[in-house]
Amino acid sequence: MTTWQNILKKSITTPDRLSGLPRAESIRLAEVCRTYPMRINPYYLELIQKTGRPLWRQAVPDMLELSDTAGVEDPLDEENLSPVPNLVHKYPDRVLFLVCSECAVYCRFCTRKRKVGRPEMVISDTTIDQGLAYIRKTPAVREVLLSGGDPLLLSDHRLERILAALAAIPTVETVRIGTRVPCTLPMRITPELVTVLRKYHPLYINTHFNHPAELTPEAKQACALLADSGIPMGNQTVLLKGVNDEPGIMQELFLGLLRFRVKPYYLFQADLTRGTDHFRTPIATGLAIMRSLIGRISGMAVPTFALDAPGGGGKIPLTPDYITSQDNDCLKFVNYQGKTCVYPDCGIG
Ligand SMILES: *Cc1c(COP(=O)(O)O)cnc(C)c1O
Ligand code: SF4
Repeated sequence: MTTWQNILKKSITTPDRLSGLPRAESIRLAEVCRTYPMRINPYYLELIQKTGRPLWRQAVPDMLELSDTAGVEDPLDEENLSPVPNLVHKYPDRVLFLVCSECAVYCRFCTRKRKVGRPEMVISDTTIDQGLAYIRKTPAVREVLLSGGDPLLLSDHRLERILAALAAIPTVETVRIGTRVPCTLPMRITPELVTVLRKYHPLYINTHFNHPAELTPEAKQACALLADSGIPMGNQTVLLKGVNDEPGIMQELFLGLLRFRVKPYYLFQADLTRGTDHFRTPIATGLAIMRSLIGRISGMAVPTFALDAPGGGGKIPLTPDYITSQDNDCLKFVNYQGKTCVYPDCGIG
């Protein structure tokens, strides 16, 4: 067994293993874990102990998960958009293929907390083969996004079986892996893994960092291995109350990612998932953060702020409004400094 598998095996899965938590509190939180599983591996646990609240909130259960009445189980209507189990076909030319039910840490804000890490999420050779068969017979699908759970918790061998099968489908042009492992278990990115991955270009990886404290030397090494293998990397951040809902934190995170050769891709408004209401910020918070970034730091470090429309409508970009008026004579707008500018263009036609 390799090191990362040993580390994962030593994960804590019950609140009584958290140091510093009163016994009564840990008994109450154990109830949350019976509904939504907990897993914190030793690497991320140490980071939590160093950093405190922003990382604690991401990984440690909270009683509020059970009292949320605002959210819905499947806000993006993924189950209804699945022609076969664990494959979501929402956009015509790309599919989301769930190939692993486990993660290195179970994030409390997970959009798929209805199933990730729970016995309901059954992924087997049969579901993988059904997904591959669907992609084979649906030539409109140009891109396959591997997700879960976390695809990089599969063994190298199982992952390669999927990548090789996709490579053999001529209508699939690109593959994207969505993984939080570079952030939550960076030692999983081994030289052996990248030897497998680099055989399957064009392959993209989108990772998921939420806070600058997650940008550790270990994470840097993981991203360097991937980037050196020619894998273009993007990052998806979820905007989370009490974790990263401040302009200064976001700026530090996005500039840090750029130094890791990871391009900030999306900043997501938290989905309306049941059990995550305590993380949700008003849309205005995200727009204010975007305004604080645009023009002030490298455009390379600025992601698209988006919400995933409830009911499966797809991702909607949310951009602060820079246009202040538009009529037949001209367009008036403000620049990043708040200065009014005029562009002498007819608004209509
Ligand atoms: C987010 C998502 C995609 C990918 O969308 P991009 O805008 O290309 O990143 C594809 N399918 C589903 C179901 C998704 O949720
Ligand atoms: S890593 Fe992703 S899929 Fe897994 S629990 Fe976190 S948000 Fe959910």
